[in-house]
Amino acid sequence: MVKSRSTHTPGPEVMHEMSIAQALLNLAMEEAQKHHLTRVTRLTVQVGEMAAVIPEVLSFSFSILTPHTLLEGATMEIEVVPIVAQCPHCHILFEVEHLNFRCPDCGVVSDTVLSGQELLLISIDGEKGVR
Ligand SMILES: [Zn+2]
Repeated sequence: MVKSRSTHTPGPEVMHEMSIAQALLNLAMEEAQKHHLTRVTRLTVQVGEMAAVIPEVLSFSFSILTPHTLLEGATMEIEVVPIVAQCPHCHILFEVEHLNFRCPDCGVVSDTVLSGQELLLISIDGEKGVR
């Protein structure tokens, strides 16, 4: 089997997911160096629903960026965190669907987002170079 090394060169219309993948890659590289890993095999990330990423596109973008890095071939587990907002009027917490920030109880629009904006590296698995 011949492995293709061809990559898509991101044009001016760089995908939204691509910049998020780059940010997560940078975070993972920092972590890997901190823990003296020579290779990262898996990482788990949390991405808030507000970021509006398509997980498949994100992991695909990631796989384009990782060759020749410590993260080459690593798999990315993506947890999408739902958007939770708090109503400024009746203070209940509610899950925001389809970017509708209106309180389901009283109808007041919330501007207090408690979760759903995450872009977090939760964990990485890898190997240390010691044999
Ligand atoms: Zn309310």
